[in-house]
Amino acid sequence: MLKRLETLFLEMDRAYAAVADQYGFRCDGCADNCCLTRFHHHTLLEYLYLVEGMRTLESGVRRTLQKNASAVSACMSAADGCDETLRIMCPLNRDGWCSLYRYRPMICRLHGIPHELQRPGGGIIKNPGCNPFLERCRESGKTDYIRFDRTPFYRQMAMLERDLRRETGYTEKLRLTIAQMLVTIMDSGNEIN
Ligand code: SF4
Repeated sequence: MLKRLETLFLEMDRAYAAVADQYGFRCDGCADNCCLTRFHHHTLLEYLYLVEGMRTLESGVRRTLQKNASAVSACMSAADGCDETLRIMCPLNRDGWCSLYRYRPMICRLHGIPHELQRPGGGIIKNPGCNPFLERCRESGKTDYIRFDRTPFYRQMAMLERDLRRETGYTEKLRLTIAQMLVTIMDSGNEIN
């Protein structure tokens, strides 16, 4: 199943790069770092892929990342209910770079450029892209929307997740930040030694 996910991620990366190239947009780091955003991830598949990624790291690095994750997770829990807009760096980000770039979840791969998404019940949600993207477009004068539809990727992800859950019998609903995923890996005894 993880091979199928890898193939899907490859397709996503290619489609994203093709549109980003047309804009002349390249993400090379910015103050408005999207790794500061509190993204939630909902699939067992992405969780297992992250576990796979953690296995590729040297044990000292893994321990450091998991320690960071515990601290970030505690900080987020403490802020719950009083600061919804808390921005705190993802524990996988080290010196501006994702330690598990190849294994990062879908939302990290698709963030940045403008996109659209078809609602399951009808209608289309449109998003203008991240702030640095918009600033660069304003500077370059390239403001026309180039169509990037996330819907097929979301659908394929949902199908893979459905197949995985059928295979494994796993039924829990998931809503986890990266920090919570790393803590869950430790707590579940999946800690990788
Ligand atoms: S998983 Fe990687 S790309 Fe995604 S928020 Fe964390 S550091 Fe950034």
